[in-house]
Formats: sequence, structure tokens, C-alpha cells
Amino acid sequence: MGESLPLGRAQRLRRAVFDLKTIVLMRRDRAALAAMRTVERAPLETVSHLSGERSAAMALHAFRSTAYYRRRYLDAGFTEADVARPENFASLPMLTKQDIHEAGDDLISRDRPSRDRLPSKTGGSTGRPLLVYNDRSAPTAALWWRIYGWWGIHPGDDSALIYRQKYAGMSRLIHIAQWWPTRQVLLDARGTTEADIDRFLRELTRVRPSLLAGYVEGVNAFARHVQATAPQVPSMKAVSVTASMIHAGQRELIEAVLGAAVYDTYRSAEVPWIAAECAERNGLHVLADHRKLEVVDAAGVPVPDGETGDVLLTDLSNRAFPLVRYAIGDRTRWIAGGCDCRRGLPRIAPIDGRVADALRTPSGRLLSGGLGSLFVDHPGTIAQFQIHQAADFSVVVRYVPVGDPAASTEAGRDAARKVSGFLGHEVPVTAQAVAEIENVGGKARMVVSELAN
Ligand SMILES: [Zn+2]
Repeated sequence: MGESLPLGRAQRLRRAVFDLKTIVLMRRDRAALAAMRTVERAPLETVSHLSGERSAAMALHAFRSTAYYRRRYLDAGFTEADVARPENFASLPMLTKQDIHEAGDDLISRDRPSRDRLPSKTGGSTGRPLLVYNDRSAPTAALWWRIYGWWGIHPGDDSALIYRQKYAGMSRLIHIAQWWPTRQVLLDARGTTEADIDRFLRELTRVRPSLLAGYVEGVNAFARHVQATAPQVPSMKAVSVTASMIHAGQRELIEAVLGAAVYDTYRSAEVPWIAAECAERNGLHVLADHRKLEVVDAAGVPVPDGETGDVLLTDLSNRAFPLVRYAIGDRTRWIAGGCDCRRGLPRIAPIDGRVADALRTPSGRLLSGGLGSLFVDHPGTIAQFQIHQAADFSVVVRYVPVGDPAASTEAGRDAARKVSGFLGHEVPVTAQAVAEIENVGGKARMVVSELAN
């Protein structure tokens, strides 16, 4: 994991300890990273061919080892031999979120042990969590090591994170011990207050991490706070953002205030680490050796380079729960030609259609993320929901009720209580049953805010 800048002794130690740990415990990821670096040096056409071969192999694996794909492909007129041919891949049926809900365990590969399945739940504006499984044996760590390397960051370097925090209490202590001596400074993206940000800033100054990573809205709010209060912020090498579209103005603000380059990444709960910007920052390189990404029209047919369409994803390293031509609900377009970094990985434009899900309070509290699971405790009570914030900061959780009306009403009230709590009970939050949710461009936004950004 090469590095050209002079390094402090402590950072060298952290990198050495990290490398040692991975040599002992993560041999497979280290081998995968070496293979990825070889692939990157190949021309685009070679990588495209490799991606096509691996896609067909994954479709064949899905056909042979799951009840769902066998039935689906046979019904669509594809024999096993047809599925095995790379030239047929783009004609195979798409997999929608609805399909995943209905298929249930029929999507689980029968020839993989259950210990390989890591459950991963997504939220979403339908209020119905989507359960998929990541593959524990996939080289997922190597994917982020690879991307961090593009930015000159070693995975053992200290980092600061602005996300929904998963670790609390004992599990937080275990997490810290596992990462030692690498340090992580954390800011929870749910219901951040000015005091939380000040604490985060003090930690940042003490630890001086190389990287800040987080949701765009969270990182943006942090940069705005720093701009407004003008404290000294230690210089960082890179800022990595994810989970929503970054606007040009946000990128400029973050870079000016934090003094580090901002890199856009494309990740999801269903398919971890899909694409990321390199140091050129001219489009996101798709990790085409491990993810097949297609940009298609409404009929599932690939569109020409430069034309915007729907993203279909095939995870080439998830053999436990195959996702083949999965319609994830994002839109983008291909960027033609090679990148100046000469990596043989194709590029897409920043993801279009993800909208930052942010609510604010008069005191500056920001809720960015964490809204997708609002109705998770009340399955089957709503068809869809959307949160509206008016110019006076008041919030209405609008939902389309289904099933037992009393249960839907209770689910709505509960969602409003949760949002109110996230916002520190600073603003009125109510629930309202509606007949339908407004859709823009075929995709319903989870948050509609009348507050100026
Ligand atoms: Zn590049």
C-alpha cells in the first residue's frame, strides 16, 4: 500500500500493525487486493470482457443453486446453456425489489453454508425494509482498501466518520480494540447538535485523522459549522462522501473549509462498494471486476454511452445470495473513454436520483439518514411514506395506510414520535394518512423540505 509523503512515526506504526493483522487474519482479502490491482492495469476492453464472463458465471451459479432464478429464467425461455452464454446476459430478466420481497428464501444459494450469509436490511420510502444477504466470504474489505489507496489513504490510517453509528456500549469497546492502534473519531449522523459537533471537532484536533468519511448532508453540515465558527481544523488528505448526490456548491464548501479533496463514492446495503472517484475526480470508476453495472431503459435494454438510464447491479462476489440484474432504483450514465489515471475500470457520472434525506431544526440540529427504518416496527401497516418539512420547520409524516386502519394510525403516530425525538422535540411533528405520495421522475423522495439549504 504505497505512500510517497513523509510519515510520522505513529502513523507508520499504525500502518505496520494493520498490515501485520491482515497478513495473519485476512489473507484472502490481501490476495484479492493484489488481483484487483493487476486488473486495474489492464485496458478497458479487457476488464469489460472479464466482467462479462464473470456476470454469466454468476447468472449460471444463480440458476443452478437457487429455486428463484431457475424458475424465473426457465419461465422466460432460457435454458441452462443459454444462461451460461455472456452474450445472453443483458436479455435475462431483471430483479426488482418487489421480486426480492416475494422470493424470500428462494433467492438463497443452496450450495453455500448459512454462515456465509450476513443479513443486510435497507430502509426505503415504501416503509418496508428489504432483507438481503451479503456474502461473508466476499473480499469486501479489499474493495475499500483499494479505493482508499486511490486517494493515498492506507486502511490503517486514523479516520473520522459521520454516519449512523452502529456501535454503542460494549460493542463500541470491542470495535475500538479490534481497530487498535488505528483510531476512529465518530459523529452520529442522527440528530446532531452543535455540542456534538464541537466534541467531534476537539477529537479531530487531537487525533488528526487522514480521512473524513460520511453522508453528504452530515459532512456538509459539519463544514458549515466550521465555516460559521471558524475554528482551526487539522488538515486532512481526503474527504469521502456517500449515500446521496453531492451538489457542486457543497463540494466547493467542504473543500474550502476542510482543505481536503472530496471524493464521491457509490455504495449500498444490497451491494457494498460499487464505484468511487479516483484522484482525477472525473466520474466514478465502477469496480467492474466485482460488480457488473448496467445502465438500461425501462425495458431493461442497455442505453448508449452518455444517455441516462436505470442502474442494474450484479454482485459478482456474492455467491450466497445472488443479486443478478438488480434494479436498485438509482439512475446514471456512462462516461465514454479512458480516465487520465489509466485504470481499466469504466466510469459513470455521479448517481442521479438519490436525494439527501435531511431535516433541520431552528437550533441547527440536523437529521441526515436513519429515516428509512421509521416504519420497520410496524410491518404491513403502510404502503409508502414521505416526510414534509415546511418553511416554519414543522414536520408532517405522510403515509399511505394499508390493512387494519387502527394499526396504520398507531404506526403513523409512532413514526411521528420517533422523528420528534430525533429532532430533540424542537419542532412540531405530526402524522397524516394520505391516498398517495407524490412522485418526481418515477422516484418518490423520502424527504421534501421547503427550508432553504
Ligand atoms: Zn481515474
